[in-house]
Amino acid sequence: MAEIGFIGVGNMGGPMARNLLKAGHRLKAFDLSAPVLKTVVAAGATAAASAEDAAKGVEIVITMLPAGQHVRDVYLGAKGLIGTAAKGTLFIDSSTIDVATAREVAAAAAQAGMAMIDAPVSGGVGGAEAATLTFMVGGPDAAFARAKPILETMGKTIVHAGPAGNGQAAKVCNNLILGASMIAVSEAFVLAEKLGLDHQKLFDISSKSSGQCWSLTSYCPVPGPVPTSPANRDYQAGFTAAMMLKDLKLAEAAAEQTAAATPLASRAAQLFEQMVASGRAGMDFSGVINLIRESRRGK
Ligand code: NAD
Repeated sequence: MAEIGFIGVGNMGGPMARNLLKAGHRLKAFDLSAPVLKTVVAAGATAAASAEDAAKGVEIVITMLPAGQHVRDVYLGAKGLIGTAAKGTLFIDSSTIDVATAREVAAAAAQAGMAMIDAPVSGGVGGAEAATLTFMVGGPDAAFARAKPILETMGKTIVHAGPAGNGQAAKVCNNLILGASMIAVSEAFVLAEKLGLDHQKLFDISSKSSGQCWSLTSYCPVPGPVPTSPANRDYQAGFTAAMMLKDLKLAEAAAEQTAAATPLASRAAQLFEQMVASGRAGMDFSGVINLIRESRRGK
């Protein structure tokens, strides 16, 4: 069993940490929020006094933080882990952040004699609780091999996507597909409504035709055809519009840096920005169908 430091035990990190404890690992946890930290201490973790403290006397450190700036602060800041943790420590960053920051932090870790992987996840809070997350991993082969048994305690599908940053690259590319496809499916249902075509009929046909995709068959944005989709519970998240916007902005940043053309991702980001600005940041992202229904052609 491993000694693990866990930094950032919020909505995702909390259940991930609890699954590690359940598997018998010893955890030193830290979070800036005392109530959040308390919940994992109640599950058996030791409370650390700081991020630096969480990384002392452990072999592995996992971070699950909101965004790139938080990751930068924890690893590269004044008392950052790269300057303070023991050589040979394995860092696993599971936060969703921009590819450039992931590569910069990994390079600094390698230079300081530490191993690091970026390992963002998909599967949401439900997947974190059920230990069925998908981990998309970037980093050296040896670091991946060391991390894999730990990741298997928290997830079901673990894919090594290539060198440092490639886990984040996979995550932004996947969520670009998700954001754009949800809008396309939503537009099709709204057009169908205007044409007098029943939701269920469109679903029955498209789910067996070339329009088939996850946004349609697993997360259908209208109530009825897929009983488990958020549309059946007033678009209660799920995966919020704010999170989709964050990920599409990361895709935009990556496209900007590489001069890749991403016209649909740019438009999708605008629509989710509009959804967030209209007070629906916490609504499930499939609620974008309401924004489309309220819009008029040409506006
Ligand atoms: P969250 O806000 O619930 O948790 C993040 C935690 O980090 C908070 O408790 C916060 O107090 C803590 N934190 C921030 N800065 C810190 C610091 N310097 N030191 C210690 N703790 C610090 O967010 P979440 O929903 O758990 O998401 C975490 C990451 O996972 C994000 O990058 C998000 O994009 C990604 N993600 C989330 C979901 C989801 O459905 N929630 C799904 C996939 C990926």
